[in-house]
Amino acid sequence: PFDVLVVGGGPGGAAAAIYAARKGIRTGIVAERFGGQLLDTLGIDNFVSVQHTEGPKLAAQLEAHVKDYDVDVMNAQEAAALIPGGANGLHEVKLKSGASVKGKTVILSTGARWRQMGVPGEAEYRGRGVAYCPHCDGPLFKGKRVAVIGGGNSGVEAAIDLAGLVAHVTLIEFDSQLRADAVLQTKLGSLPNVTVITSALTTEVLGNGEKVVGLRYRDRGTDEEHLIELEGIFVQIGLVPNTEWLGDAVALSGRGEIEVDARGATSQPGIFAAGDVTTVPYKQIVIAMGEGSKASLSAFDHLIRAGA
Ligand code: FAD
Repeated sequence: PFDVLVVGGGPGGAAAAIYAARKGIRTGIVAERFGGQLLDTLGIDNFVSVQHTEGPKLAAQLEAHVKDYDVDVMNAQEAAALIPGGANGLHEVKLKSGASVKGKTVILSTGARWRQMGVPGEAEYRGRGVAYCPHCDGPLFKGKRVAVIGGGNSGVEAAIDLAGLVAHVTLIEFDSQLRADAVLQTKLGSLPNVTVITSALTTEVLGNGEKVVGLRYRDRGTDEEHLIELEGIFVQIGLVPNTEWLGDAVALSGRGEIEVDARGATSQPGIFAAGDVTTVPYKQIVIAMGEGSKASLSAFDHLIRAGA
């Protein structure tokens, strides 16, 4: 068995594996796709101390850094179930391939995925005007016109954030009213360069072959189609944690995120979690790496205390 078995090969899982391996203990990492969300990311300008990089490049560097150590990397392997072993037992991770791997401790770092609208043009123009992370890509749209899709807390926060950077924000909500907290709605209403459209269903992302030039939506009251000319679309209709495979092996929040404490411990002794898959707020690369390192140190601490 591994001393530390990491599930997930994104920034969180990679950091956890490096920190564990540096303790000289048996470390394994199972990843469906090593690099995680980085593989879908173009420019990265907020990875502190690196002025600019690109997702696939950072993913390759992460993998190289992990492989500098004695880590058993099991790439292209999907975990299908977790069977906790209790306080001093071995935890088992069953793989989709039918194999199973065991660890004295386990670090869950399976990340999350942005919920997509599923309309024509969205996938085609992803990274070319269609964006999901205002903290990451907001500055690319400085002085331009953007839409935010979704009137929950994250959509309204994104609209407020973007309004300070871009020329104009159109917030589009499917329901007849916004669902964000009142204080956010009040703030949004005070901004001169924000238009809110409710009861609107986005039907198409329009592009010119190179980048986004507009968005089409249907007014759900009148059934009329409308066109908005703009350069950017931020989709804020939810971040879905990759926890379906866990069932009820560890405690999850109402949104399906793994509940962790300040040390990254889950509800099961010896099982830790880090990154976008957890309840830790603000899903970012530096945060996932910090949390992965922390969970790994906690796992090591657990091992010495358990006398393993
Ligand atoms: P992930 O990166 O999601 O990695 C999860 C890992 O788990 C992957 O290896 C995946 O294959 C694996 N996995 C999932 N399920 C299973 C399973 N059942 N079995 C085995 N393995 C599994 N953040 C920034 O800080 N700056 C940016 O500029 C930025 N831009 C972004 C742009 C885009 C388009 C996207 C999508 C995200 C962006 N982010 C950015 C967010 C950032 O990518 C995430 O916060 C970060 O990748 C989270 O790391 P993680 O390790 O928690 O999860």
